[in-house]
Amino acid sequence: MFKAILIEKDEAGYRARLAELDEAALPAGDVTVRVAYSTLNYKDGLAITGKGPVVRRFPMVPGIDLAGTVEASSHAGVNAGDAVVLNGWGVGEGHWGGLAQRARLQGDWLVPLPAAFSPRQAMAIGTAGYTAKLGVMALERHGVAPEHGEVLVTGANGGVGSVAVAILAQLGYTVVASTGRPQETDFLKALGAAEVIDRAQFAAPGKPLAKERWAGAIDTVGSHTLANVCASMRYRGTVAACGLAQGMDFPASVAPFILRGVTLAGIDSVMAPRAERLEAWQRLARDLDVAKLELITSEIGLGEVIDTAHRLLDGKVRGRVVVDVNR
Ligand code: NDP
Repeated sequence: MFKAILIEKDEAGYRARLAELDEAALPAGDVTVRVAYSTLNYKDGLAITGKGPVVRRFPMVPGIDLAGTVEASSHAGVNAGDAVVLNGWGVGEGHWGGLAQRARLQGDWLVPLPAAFSPRQAMAIGTAGYTAKLGVMALERHGVAPEHGEVLVTGANGGVGSVAVAILAQLGYTVVASTGRPQETDFLKALGAAEVIDRAQFAAPGKPLAKERWAGAIDTVGSHTLANVCASMRYRGTVAACGLAQGMDFPASVAPFILRGVTLAGIDSVMAPRAERLEAWQRLARDLDVAKLELITSEIGLGEVIDTAHRLLDGKVRGRVVVDVNR
């Protein structure tokens, strides 16, 4: 038997609970993992609370991330005893996920745990941090360099945002952090933000073009915020669009793209090819200061997951939450 968060949906409604499950109930897969840590991402919050259509099959064990040790494997290249990380691939959405003490998965989905990180640190990074890294890699690919000027991070106190601030600062960028929580200014400056600004300036409908300011941007918010960020990019700047915390809509004009050569780079962590994942994790080992990671991280046990998921969606959680699934 193992403990897991279980989401059910039937005539009694949509609900999540801490359950004891039989290993025989685990889904098909060629690798069984003894999970050490998982984490809570925005998407896990949507799944657990039922506030977003994340779960595609019921009952579901949520958790789009996990880190642990391979217990049994029939997959070539994955051996019992290997330390592994999993992010995405629809796990926690259509296949039982990481908010559990055991998981059965496809070996192709697993990435070796980088030597630089413990399982807990890998989950402090999680999909949020690995997505932040994919966003930074997209800016680099489009030629955004520290000497080009200020780089904006929206939703800066969130999981993706706070890791993006830390990575960009470590790489020498001048980072401006946009947040609705000005009381966390000291925290954002400790991560490396040069300036902290109020997210309200991006929240409402804006003009097609605004004063040019940002050489690059990592946007986790979408909607009017993303439209206004695009409108205030400098000539040939790049925005990496990662999230939808304000909304899924994009009420923008083409003006920044056709008049200023702005690039909008889409970031998807879920189905990102394996080579890009391996690169992102290798670069995280180099570009993320683990002391800053610790500043971002708080820890809970499986029994606190459901309450924390509600707080996360209410914007009350700062940084990253790791889940020790064995307490
Ligand atoms: P968090 O909940 O940790 O952070 C989201 C942050 O967005 C909040 O902390 C808040 O930052 C800001 N925010 C929340 N509501 C609003 C609002 N109404 N208007 C403006 N800003 C708001 O989530 P994550 O960091 O885990 O994820 C961020 C987004 O990225 C989510 O939409 C998530 O679905 C998406 N995502 C996408 C991935 C991909 O593959 N593309 C992978 C991972 C996440 P503050 O308090 O600083 O204002």
